[in-house]
Amino acid sequence: MEGMQDAAWLSNVDGKFDTWPYKRMRDAETEPLSKEESKKKMGRRWVDPVQGLASVRHEFGEHGGVNMSIEASATFTVMEPETMTKLFTGELGPDRDFYVYSRQCNPTVLNLGRQIAAMEGTEAAYCTASGMSAISSVLFQLCSSGDHIVASSRLYGGTHALLAHFLPRVCGISTTFVDIEFPEAVESAFTPSTKVLYFEAMSNPTLTVADIPALASIGHNKGATVVVDNTFAPLVLSPARLGADVVIHSISKYISGQSDVIAGALCGPAKLVSDMMGLQQGSLMLLGPTMNPTVAFNISGRLPHLGLRMKEHCHRALLFARRMKSLGLKVIYPGLEDHPQHQLLKGMANEGYGYGGMVSVDLETTEKANKLMHHLQNFSQFGLIAVSLGYHETLMSCSGSSTSSELSKEEQAVAGISAGLVRMSVGYTGSVEQRWRQLHDALVALNLVAEGAKWKD
Ligand SMILES: *Cc1c(COP(=O)(O)O)cnc(C)c1O
Repeated sequence: MEGMQDAAWLSNVDGKFDTWPYKRMRDAETEPLSKEESKKKMGRRWVDPVQGLASVRHEFGEHGGVNMSIEASATFTVMEPETMTKLFTGELGPDRDFYVYSRQCNPTVLNLGRQIAAMEGTEAAYCTASGMSAISSVLFQLCSSGDHIVASSRLYGGTHALLAHFLPRVCGISTTFVDIEFPEAVESAFTPSTKVLYFEAMSNPTLTVADIPALASIGHNKGATVVVDNTFAPLVLSPARLGADVVIHSISKYISGQSDVIAGALCGPAKLVSDMMGLQQGSLMLLGPTMNPTVAFNISGRLPHLGLRMKEHCHRALLFARRMKSLGLKVIYPGLEDHPQHQLLKGMANEGYGYGGMVSVDLETTEKANKLMHHLQNFSQFGLIAVSLGYHETLMSCSGSSTSSELSKEEQAVAGISAGLVRMSVGYTGSVEQRWRQLHDALVALNLVAEGAKWKD
């Protein structure tokens, strides 16, 4: 299976990256496609994430069902014992519909991977049991003991802890954290052993937007692999199209949309994904962060309406951000003109989705933040006090004492997280004006805005 390269987990965005016919075409070619060639070919057909998704070959169910089947098998049989040998030497594999064991490769999970790859415009993708396992598998594959990572100082708390504490202790992989708004700082953080530049496209919870093309070019000049977490901005941003090598998703958030599963994905070059599935040195194969095929089936059924959901999340987030700001509140939202990266985001974003569904409001003290969230959940029915994002209801959390509490007070200050920062993942249920009334009444009841003050759209 070591030889099982560039096969069924490829997206077929340009019609060539299909399952076994792709392999056959490749057999006819003497050399595999170079990175540039494959980029060029992908680039011709890939217009935006939703069109990428719609260009994937539809996977039918086993009996012709419009939905794909769930392959609920851990192990797979062969008709001839000799075939098993061929599976282990890599002569036969998923590209010809041969499978061995679902930790390495399950057809249902594989199909979701093809869809996610098409959405992000990468050659390949692999779906994992969580966002964190996607992140750690990628880093374990790209770095060895003694290697170095340059990472943004504004990261998801779990990722920060992995890089700052776990990786140095367990395997001597060290990280230098930098403010990615300063290119010189990023550049000077590199050492001869730097293998990865890691950042989030839109960062949790201060909604800082990364200059993906500029950072990718710094990383590439230094010979590093550029890994970008796009969990906060699916469809809005396409990091691989802007220069990133690997794109990470916590599917648990927007892509799932129902806050009912934990899942993740990594999207990148076919060679990397193949290596990660290798029997001897593959982090996915050996650490086993496998996605359950039932989860893959469920997520695959939600991808078709991700575009509709994102548009409404983004639409309402912009509206509430504008109105709250016009009432004098300190609002952080990249769709507002006064956001430091508003123009940057406008220049990078795919057209028609908006500026993201997350809005942060800085109420200065934890006490005020908690009072507002309590009122919004328990009196006005505006949303729920919970971490995470991408749910159909609005979710609210006070970042400093929840999702970013892995960071010390000093680290929080560096990342721009104030004690009273309320992060909202804006939902789309109910009517817009009904939800605004609930939010506005709570703000007035708690004297956070003056009664009778007029807001502007
Ligand atoms: C939630 C999250 C993760 C971790 O994903 P899980 O699916 O919870 O493991 C990673 N990065 C970001 C930006 C997240 O929001």
